[in-house]
Amino acid sequence: MKIIAIGRNYAEHAKELNNPVPTTPVIFMKPDTALLKDNKPFYHPDFSEDIHHEIELVLKICKEGKHINEKFAADYYDEIGLGIDFTARDIQSRHKEKGLPWELAKGFDGSAPISNFIPKAQFEDLYNLNLRLDVNGQTRQNGNTKDLLFSFEKIIAFVSQYITLKKGDLIFTGTPEGVSAVKPGDHLQGYLQDQKLLDFQVK
Ligand code: MG
Repeated sequence: MKIIAIGRNYAEHAKELNNPVPTTPVIFMKPDTALLKDNKPFYHPDFSEDIHHEIELVLKICKEGKHINEKFAADYYDEIGLGIDFTARDIQSRHKEKGLPWELAKGFDGSAPISNFIPKAQFEDLYNLNLRLDVNGQTRQNGNTKDLLFSFEKIIAFVSQYITLKKGDLIFTGTPEGVSAVKPGDHLQGYLQDQKLLDFQVK
């Protein structure tokens, strides 16, 4: 399986990092070794002084497709969950300055904690879902999928022009504003519509 992630998919987050609001989706990938499941602790790596949390809605792809038409793209994901796109912001900033790829900032081990997945049919409106991240009991990020720049269907249509999607692939759909650094000892709790799906420690 592979993990595809979308950058700058909420305008207010693009602005907080002084990035332009994109006109086509910004795509990057994480290796499967980035996955962290079952609310296992995240071990803060020592190569970064500035690991940021980015809470994101994650789509699980349910069948193979290439050149998927946006009109049919909803048939290609049947479950959703929450994930954290941990980002070594200091490394990413240095790489952005030099025009270098982001993998070391985005793809390191444990950089993709994910929750259990829930059938999307259980939600009334996928474009009015609240996602929230609390750190040590304080809300840091509180967004809603109504503010997505590129819909889930647009993302699937766009990505599948270039990369075949396969059953089990995950798509991180971007983070709302409020990203900030985590440190060992922090307790992260992620909520989708008031349902707690993520609950783990930084060590
Ligand atoms: Mg992200």
